[in-house]
Parts: sequence; structure tokens; C-alpha cells
Amino acid sequence: MIEKVPKSTQSLPHKLIDQFGRQVDYIRLSITDRCDFRCVYCMSEDMTFLSRDEVLSLEECARLVKVFVGLGVSKVRITGGEPLVRKNALWLFEEIGKLKNLNELVLTTNGSQLEKQAQDLKNAGVKRINISLDSLEATRFKTITRTGELDKVLRGIQAAKLAGFKNIKLNTVLMRGFNDDEVLPLVDFAIKQAIDISFIEEMPLGDVNHTRESTFVSNADTLKLLQSKYPLISSTETTGGPARYWRVADAKGKFNTKIGFISPHSHNFCESCNRVRITCKGELYLCLGQEDKIELMPLLRAHPNDDQPLITAILNSMAVKPKGHDFDLRRAEPSIIRFMSHTGG
Ligand code: SAM
Ligand code: SF4
Repeated sequence: MIEKVPKSTQSLPHKLIDQFGRQVDYIRLSITDRCDFRCVYCMSEDMTFLSRDEVLSLEECARLVKVFVGLGVSKVRITGGEPLVRKNALWLFEEIGKLKNLNELVLTTNGSQLEKQAQDLKNAGVKRINISLDSLEATRFKTITRTGELDKVLRGIQAAKLAGFKNIKLNTVLMRGFNDDEVLPLVDFAIKQAIDISFIEEMPLGDVNHTRESTFVSNADTLKLLQSKYPLISSTETTGGPARYWRVADAKGKFNTKIGFISPHSHNFCESCNRVRITCKGELYLCLGQEDKIELMPLLRAHPNDDQPLITAILNSMAVKPKGHDFDLRRAEPSIIRFMSHTGG
């Protein structure tokens, strides 16, 4: 059943400014905890997923995004779990794509459904896509994702290019002993495809089958390796998050491909943090690496036609946004119990 979405709140004067003066203008919304892959750094092999009732409906997701955009949010990333395995996800992209004050609707996906959906997503107004790709070797890809097919993802990348997406970015989590010897092949692939690539340091989210310290690869080492092989120039571009960018020269000497290093273990980015995350259960997490959260689902459901309680709660949440995260790889137990697929990457 489609619920009536309350009237727009876009004329509200409020902005989301936290206690440290940082303005939140970017939300990451996870629309499902489910996924067709079981990446070894992200999930355990036998996950228990949430039931339908425990997850925000797509109409509730659309309503939430509208409220946030009314509060000055100009960028929305849809993530998961795997967002594209959610039934009718396209409807949500189309709804969000219509919002006037939104500058950027972007998506993070494992690419498995892109072959079928890339063109529709482009038509719905998705501006950019990040696609996870941890290996270019089929058997290894299967080992890391447990269930994924490399060919399908490669076809998904081509479909996104054909659909006209610019600035496609690969996301690679490097793990010692799994894929840390694929840095150069992955960068070569990105250069050849004229797309960007980011290397993400593994984060201690959720209880997986290995200790994070045993597989940790430092971005500083990856950068050193790349500098020894390619001409790189550092870039001042920033998204207000933990990514730092470089540009790499292609065979013709053109610095087109962007290489990002997402280093969550560094604290340097927290002071410019501009984002919050909303889980598929409607939990508003103020920091990826802390437990501070506000439950939005009860407000959505108790006030189906009145956004004011929701707006008040979101404005008040700014007072509890933490200064920064507290990741520690040396701890035996995960720093944060919830999996990345729960919070949304
Ligand atoms: N399923 C989609 C995908 O894989 O792109 C979107 C959700 S996934 C949780 C988002 C991103 O988080 C992916 O790039 C994934 O590699 C990354 N990720 C998942 N668990 C992680 C962890 N423990 N540490 C670092 N990155 C992680
Ligand atoms: Fe699924 Fe993405 Fe997590 Fe891999 S990283 S298990 S694709 S949610």
C-alpha cells in the first residue's frame, strides 16, 4: 500500500548544524540490510536479516529524504546491503530524483544488478555510481564475496558506462592475503576504463571470521607502491569525508583517473564531517564509528501526516553528533558490533 507522503518541508529555514559548527548536508540511506553477496570483510556467512516490518517502507524512505532535503541536505547516497536487490527500489530513485533542492543523488552498489538497471537509474536522476570491485580474478572474487560472479559485475560496469554515467568509481577494500597484490592491476583496469578507483581501509564493523589486524593494509603503503609505478599528482578535491585524492597519468600523460584513499583510521577528516547515516530500520547514526543514534521509525509511523516531530528530532540530534570516531584495530572484539551492511557504507 502506498502511504500518502506529507507536503514538502522544503521552505523550512533550518539547517543541520551540529555542536561543533559542522553543517550536515549529506545523508547516506541504507534501504536494505540484505545482499546477494557475503563479502568476508562485511558479513558473516550465515546472516540473519531483518523482517519486512522492521525495515522502512520505500514510501517512508522517500518521506525521510524529503524531510532531510528540506533541512538543507543537498546530497543523498543510497546504499545497503545491496540497494538494487530491494524490490521496486527504482521507484524510490525516481521519487528522490524529482526533489528540486537536491544537487546529487548517488548510489553505492556491488554492481551485480547494474546490467539490468543502469539505464533506468540514469533516467531516474542518479548522478554518480560507486561500484565495489575487490578483485579482477574470478576465483578470488568468489572467495572474497563468497557468492559473487565477477563477469556479472564487469558487465554491470560496462552497462553503467553505456547508460552515460560519468565519474563511475570503483571501491576496493584491500585485505592482506586476499587481494593486496592486485593494487596495480586494479589501477590499470581503472585507467583503461577511464573510471576512478578508491582504496578503502578495512573497518572493524561487525564480527567476521578474521581479526581485522591480520588483514589490515595501510593506505599509506598502497600510495607508496602506486607512487613508485605511476606519475601521481595530489588533488585538493574533498567530499568532507575520509577520502583523499590523487590523479594518475594515463599512457598519453593525461591525469584523468582519480585515485582515492579512504582511511577511516585517520582522524583528520572528522573535523570536516558533513554527513549522517540512516539505516534501513530508520536509525539515524550521527557517526559511522560511534553508537550515538536516534530512532526515526517510531516517529514516522506515529505521525504519518505530520513531519514536525521528525523535523524536531532530526534538528535535536545535531546536539549529540560526536566529535569523531574511535576505531581501534588492536581490539580483539569489533569496535562496533553492527555490520557495515546494517549501517550502510
Ligand atoms: N553492497 C554495496 C557495495 O558493496 O558497494 C553497498 C553497501 S557496502 C556496505 C558499501 C561499501 O562498504 C562497499 O564499498 C564495501 O566494500 C564497504 N565495506 C563493507 N564492509 C566494510 C568494512 N568492514 N570495512 C571497510 N569497508 C567496508
Ligand atoms: Fe554486500 Fe556490499 Fe557488504 Fe559485499 S560489501 S556483502 S556487496 S553489502
